[in-house]
Amino acid sequence: MYWADELAANAGGPQVVSDSKTPSGTIHVGSFRGPILVDAIWRALRERGVDAQATYGVDDMDPMDAQALLTPDAVDRYMGVPLAHVPAPAGSGASSYARHFAGQFLDTFAGLGFHPYVFWMSELYASGAMDPFLRIALDRADRVREIYERVANVHHPREWHPISLVCESCGKVGTTIVLEWDGSQVRYECRSDLVTWAHGCGHGGRVSPFGGRSKLPWNLEWAAQWSYLGVTIEPSGKDLSTKGGSRDRSDAIAREVFDREPPLNVPYEFLNIGGRKMSTSKGRGATAHEMAEVLPPELVRFLFLRHRPNHALDFDPSGDTIPRLFDEYDRIADATAGREVRGELPPDPDRIFKVCQLDPDTDAAAEASRYRPPFGHLALLGQVPGVDVVERFAAEKGETLDAAELSILEARRRAARAWLEHWAPERARLVVHRSAPPAEVAALSDEQRIYLGGLALAAEREGPASGEAWQNLVFRVAQEAAMPAGRAFGALYIAFLGRTNGPRAGWLLAALPAEFVIGRLRKAAGWRASPEGAAEGSA
Ligand SMILES: [Zn+2]
Repeated sequence: MYWADELAANAGGPQVVSDSKTPSGTIHVGSFRGPILVDAIWRALRERGVDAQATYGVDDMDPMDAQALLTPDAVDRYMGVPLAHVPAPAGSGASSYARHFAGQFLDTFAGLGFHPYVFWMSELYASGAMDPFLRIALDRADRVREIYERVANVHHPREWHPISLVCESCGKVGTTIVLEWDGSQVRYECRSDLVTWAHGCGHGGRVSPFGGRSKLPWNLEWAAQWSYLGVTIEPSGKDLSTKGGSRDRSDAIAREVFDREPPLNVPYEFLNIGGRKMSTSKGRGATAHEMAEVLPPELVRFLFLRHRPNHALDFDPSGDTIPRLFDEYDRIADATAGREVRGELPPDPDRIFKVCQLDPDTDAAAEASRYRPPFGHLALLGQVPGVDVVERFAAEKGETLDAAELSILEARRRAARAWLEHWAPERARLVVHRSAPPAEVAALSDEQRIYLGGLALAAEREGPASGEAWQNLVFRVAQEAAMPAGRAFGALYIAFLGRTNGPRAGWLLAALPAEFVIGRLRKAAGWRASPEGAAEGSA
């Protein structure tokens, strides 16, 4: 059974599935894993008729704690300040640093078919919604200290209270410690040495902690979110799910401080870039909003939903990662459509295919049976001047593309252009030498020339129209001439591209006008190294 279906089958009663994120900088593509898992679980519940709600939170009262994300002149002033109170980067129209970065991320959700109820912690604190939890935390400070000691081996001094005031003088929340609570006010100090990464101003005072003037430490805030929203299922990254880690602490706090069973955890692995965990702040080249612009939404979903949550993902957008992702998606589509598929398949490919679609109610088999242009071929054909790719792929399909197939083609063209521009390996880039054979044809052996001549004759006779037909012909003529396939393809790449490797030759030849192909095969076949010929060289 698909993992989300398994989970849904065991759920009793109404469910709230949630995730949240600290918007401490540009958000990396790996951060899609949480919300996309939430959506997959929500969909599985809904399909079983369970009353379910998906929520997504922005932990924007967390303090700014990464110096590298600030301009040098802003470090002193803003390190330790809630992200909701740090100004947005220059040039942004957003009202705060948190709104800028979280906004970029949240703006992609609808396009990915994810429509959660979104909450901002700064708003929940300001509205007073968190006040009951602040009060309980303060009343039960002893118990909280004891839990930290027992679960995480973290010792807090007797006077420590589990909330942080936003300093009335410097606005920092990461530098304050609350030392007393009298039932209506707290006494706090803003210390220069409470943490190493930010320096408080030394101010102190007695003040009501309610209505947005303070926040709970992360472990308590998480547990308070669960109580406030009624969360029953929350996936969390493996860094939070370690023994004695954030999740264990919050689970204990939920039970023993807020008197509530914590939600079911669905621990998930990271997405790595080239084998390394990508932190939010270093997300260059694979930011969430950029990948959402480049990849069609069903492919973004597929990246995270093709494997179980506990499966580590590696996604380096450079090289062949993106073409392989499309190819694997197409294989799952083929399996869903009942077509024959080579290689091993995951269990329930049809469930994977369905959960990747934007519309949860998509008829998976019908959608899967649509024609999808293979990404590699599309990337190639898009580079051949004068090729009508719509006509080309209609020929491959054997009939006109319908409206949905045309939009699949268009989305893939965009993705292919972006891939070629930013990430494709050199061998995927293509220059067809149109006006004359490239100089490299001088290096062809006699048997390769004979082969090209034979292929010209056969092509003239048979008129292959599709990439498959050309590919078959290339193989057959090679076989008849007892030429190894590698040498045959090598000859073709040299004759058209001036190099010894290239994309699938059949598709390349099919994309070019037949008379040009046959003419070029003849010319290359008859090529003799001569001063004249050399001058004819590359064009
Ligand atoms: Zn201060």
